Amino acid sequence: MKIHEYQGKEIFRKYGVPTPRGFACFSVDEALAAAKKLGGKVWVVKAQIHAGGRGKGGGVKVAKSLEEVRARAKQILGMQLVTHQTGPQGQKVRRLLIEEGADIAKELYVGMVVDRGTQRVVLMASSEGGMDIEEVAANTPQKIHKVFVDPAVGLTDADARGVAKKIGIPEAALAQASQLLQGLYKCFWDTDASLLEVNPLILSGDGRVVALDSKINFDDNALFRHPDLVALRDLDEEDPLEIEASEYDLSYISLDGNIGCMVNGAGLAMATMDTIKLFGGSPANFLDVGGGATAEKVTAAFKIMLSNPKVKAILVNIFGGIMKCDTIAAGVVAAAREVKLAVPLVVRMKGTNEVQGKKILQDSGLPIISADNMAQAGQRVVAALKKKAAKKKVVKKRAGRKIVKGKKK
Ligand code: ADP
Ligand code: MG
Repeated sequence: MKIHEYQGKEIFRKYGVPTPRGFACFSVDEALAAAKKLGGKVWVVKAQIHAGGRGKGGGVKVAKSLEEVRARAKQILGMQLVTHQTGPQGQKVRRLLIEEGADIAKELYVGMVVDRGTQRVVLMASSEGGMDIEEVAANTPQKIHKVFVDPAVGLTDADARGVAKKIGIPEAALAQASQLLQGLYKCFWDTDASLLEVNPLILSGDGRVVALDSKINFDDNALFRHPDLVALRDLDEEDPLEIEASEYDLSYISLDGNIGCMVNGAGLAMATMDTIKLFGGSPANFLDVGGGATAEKVTAAFKIMLSNPKVKAILVNIFGGIMKCDTIAAGVVAAAREVKLAVPLVVRMKGTNEVQGKKILQDSGLPIISADNMAQAGQRVVAALKKKAAKKKVVKKRAGRKIVKGKKK
């Protein structure tokens, strides 16, 4: 689960991590009131969306007068902010953070993730913070310093000081910086975070270290013990199909392609997507209906998959174990009827109650293309898609000719 920058900063403050003062706002009037309350001469108007790269996309603007705060807030609020993390469609800005402008002497970077290889939290820090950290990681990885934290000990004073020194924090600020890093580690640990990033962490003109940005992702599997964090969830920032799927306890992730796939088991779902790719297709989603799904759940899954307008063909790939093929077949038929299925549907099923399942599909009278193995399923769904596209072209061409003829007459 992701949260907004301003929410992350509120959590940081609880762990003694200094941030600029600021207020979350939902309207231009609120933004103006927030700037007045903050006082000072420089404010920063920051779009709050669950994606990074806002600065480059035009979602972070400095304002040097109240009039400018109003103008910037008006411009950013409601805009469709496109960053390298939102995709070309962008994300609508519904919230702002108005905060005091910081006096930046140097922009640094600090991040933490769980490193699976060492089974430890790894702290990464760099002197080259700011908006181009991805390039630093790609071109000059030696400028990123890492500390693998022993979970039994936590982030020690010595390690925190050591890394702070390496990223160029001056002697006078080392004690404060190491306290800040330890606060971030404790925050990561206590909240069951999977990723925590402060980019930039700044050294201010008066020699203090301050978190100017915040990003925290939490491990969904641990949310049950953090109701306070769950309360921070912003559904406007999540994919509506993924939200609906989570209500049915389905694992669904939207992708860019046009072949919807419904599979049981995450491993088989991954293999199915690979197979689609292998034969030149592109999956529209990942969808694992799980082990013990009912026909109702399958129907819901099928409908969610189809409500994605990008889906132009469907591949159902089921390995019947605990999940019985006839259950899936009943769900598929019910859903196909309900939604008046208009795209080609390829079904491959093997295992428990396979014969009964296939019979249900056959008896349904629906134009279902059946396949005996995964390769065949992949080939057939890609072929069906191409055939459909070709048909469309012919229809278009014919329509075009008619018009030309009409003109001639
Ligand atoms: P993003 O990472 O999404 O681009 P940031 O919060 O990192 O957004 O802001 C982008 C840049 O804007 C920062 O690198 C920093 O230079 C500047 N900035 C952000 N907040 C402030 C602030 N409170 N005061 C001064 N400059 C800021
Ligand atoms: Mg940033």
